Formats: sequence, C-alpha cells, structure tokens
Amino acid sequence: MPRKLVSIRRVAELRPIAYNSRLQMALVDGWTCAVRTGAFTRDEAVLLCEIDSFVSSTDPRFQHPLHHGATAWSGSRGVHVKSVMVNRSSHISQGLVLKLADFPEVQAAYYNDKEKALDTCFAEMLGVRKWEVAPGEAGTSLGPSPAFFPKTDAERVQNIKTLFTNKYANATFQESVKMDGSSMTVYYVRNDSQFYKSVPALPEGARKADLKNGRVGVSSRKVDLSCADEKKNVFWITALRYGLPWKLHRLGRNIAIQGELVGATMNRNRHGYGKGQHDFFVFAIYDIDKQQYMPPKDVEVRARELGLKHVPVLGYVNIHKIAKSQDDLLKRAEGVGMNGKKREGLVYKNVQDGRWFKAIANNYLLAIGE
Ligand code: ATP
Ligand code: MN
Ligand code: MN
Repeated sequence: MPRKLVSIRRVAELRPIAYNSRLQMALVDGWTCAVRTGAFTRDEAVLLCEIDSFVSSTDPRFQHPLHHGATAWSGSRGVHVKSVMVNRSSHISQGLVLKLADFPEVQAAYYNDKEKALDTCFAEMLGVRKWEVAPGEAGTSLGPSPAFFPKTDAERVQNIKTLFTNKYANATFQESVKMDGSSMTVYYVRNDSQFYKSVPALPEGARKADLKNGRVGVSSRKVDLSCADEKKNVFWITALRYGLPWKLHRLGRNIAIQGELVGATMNRNRHGYGKGQHDFFVFAIYDIDKQQYMPPKDVEVRARELGLKHVPVLGYVNIHKIAKSQDDLLKRAEGVGMNGKKREGLVYKNVQDGRWFKAIANNYLLAIGE
C-alpha cells in the first residue's frame, strides 16, 4: 500500500507536558505530536501530516509552534516536517496534527464517504509533497522501474495498528538492521516470458543488458537505469562488480534481487564510506513468475550462494515476546550500526507473508535532523 503522507486519523489521547502549559502531546495511532493546548479534543478526527511532509510555509493552516522559518527544497520554499524534541521535556513530536474544519475539501470528502476518506492520502489535494534527499547519482533513466516487481517501501511501525493484537500473537518476524542508502533492484526476465514485453526499450549503446536468453535490468527506487552509464553510474558499477548480470543469466529465472546500495555518494554517506566506495546489501528476492517474495530464510541462503552480502540479520523473533508496544520497538531500534555510527533502525519481516515494516530510531532522526 502506498504510504499515506497526509491522512485522516483520530486523536486517541491528549497528554500534558510538564512545565509547558502552552503545548500538549496528542497521540495519533503510534505517533506523538505536539499541539496547542486546548486546540483538539480526545477522539477528534484530524488530519495528520507525517514526518517528511513538505508543507507550505505561508499558508497559516500549516503553521506550528515548533516550526520556524522556511527552507528551500526542490524548487520551492516550505517547511520540512521533522522529528523535534519539545523544549526541556522528554517528548518527541513527530508530525503535524491539523484541524479538519480548516480544510473544507477534506471535510467534504470525509462526510461524503468516511470509509473511503480514511483510506485516502490527501497530500496532492493539499499541495503537500514528500521530502526526500536527492539520490546520490541518478544516471540515465530508461523509464519508470518495471511494474512486475514491487517497490521496496516499508510502512512505519507507528502505523501498524494491529501489531499487538492476537493477529500477530504467533507470528515470526525476521529482525534486520536498516541500511541508509538507496533502494536498488537487479532483475532478470527471460525473453520467452510475458514480462519481457514490458521492460523499457534499450537504446543504442545499452544493448549489453540484452543477454542471450533474456534481459537484465538495474533499477533505483523509481527508475530503470541505462547500462550505457556502466562506468559512471554506481548502481550499474556495483551490479557489475558482483557479476550480477551473468549470475542471473546463468540462473535463468525471472527474479528480482532487491537491496540497499550504500556508500560514499548515497544519502550523504551516512555510513561513512571512503571516497568512491559503495556496497550492496540484499534484503529481498522477488519471484516474478509467482508474483511473490521468497521466504526470508531462503533469501539469506540464496544471497550467500550468489556471493552477495545480506543486510545484517539479528534474529527471528516473536514481536509479542520482545515488546509490549510500538514504543518498545522504537527503543529497540536505537543502537550502533556500521562504523560506530548510530543505526537508522530495524526492519521486521513477517516470515509467513513476507511483508515488512520499519522501526526508525528516534535518536537517529534527531541526530540527522529529520
Ligand atoms: P527516505 O527518503 O526517508 O530515506 P525511503 O523512501 O528510502 O525514505 P525508508 O524510510 O528508508 O524509505 O524505508 C524503506 C526503505 O528501506 C526500503 O525501500 C529499502 O530501500 C530500505 N532498507 C534498508 N535496509 C533495509 C532492510 N534491512 N530491510 C528492508 N528494507 C531496507
Ligand atoms: Mn532510506
Ligand atoms: Mn525514511
């Protein structure tokens, strides 16, 4: 399900903040958000702009007591909604809680069809964009990444409402360390399969991706990248360094290997790599024929067989045994990652259905200013 950056939620609770009468903490699903005291009531339907929303800095409806000034990003000025500590308190505020009544168009949608409205992302309607750091090196795009494997997005633990219900009482999750780079997918489709027709066409100079029995592709999160850039594009450089095109060709199966490309030019080099250095860590393998993810343990084995690194796996856990709440998981997400730096967080993957969610460490978000 695509991420709902701006959505209708309910205020579950309002908590006072010691020595601060101006603000209260509103609990909205797994999030805690500072709001003006008295502005909201318990159970009120509200609009929540999640962190990483990029909102107007001039529209008074988006103003918030903890936000100051505006920043320029991607051609416009606005406010990047980040994680902030409420002054002199132990409360973290994450997200903007807004009055539904301030947005007649949203309110109308809500009164018209509640169920549908609760499932809608209102970002576009309200001109809110998802803030993203520019990808390190993009390269030449052949078109959008193919639709025959899923995007690697992960929902945040704060939004998994049923996590601590019976539904997951006996579920096993793979717990892995979240790497902070760019999503990268290397795929192979045989030329005798239906999928071959839907891969982006190869321009002159990029024919190398056309192998004897099929086609290999390297995709960033959003776009299919041309191998004509093989010498300067880090996605292709890394795929070739691991000999992936040939390994997949030899395997001859329609699969997509998904992992995180990390390194010097990715995401502000948060892992602290040396100049020009990059690496690739597998976190999933998708069976294109079956249209389903391979079980996590098989992915670990396969990655090893292919001579690839896998994201660090801490273990296989029952979430109800290691945590009592979403908050407990957020605490657990804090820790040391690569090169002695704070890690971004943990990812939990359901062994049964292969679905995953992320717990991003709040100490990390505060340290990097997101
Ligand atoms: P942002 O712009 O904030 O970095 P994003 O779109 O990269 O957002 P993330 O918040 O980083 O999304 O979370 C999802 C991504 O996490 C996946 O797309 C994947 O690339 C990456 N990831 C890193 N480590 C892992 C892991 N161990 N398991 C699964 N995904 C991982
Ligand atoms: Mn990321
Ligand atoms: Mn993120």
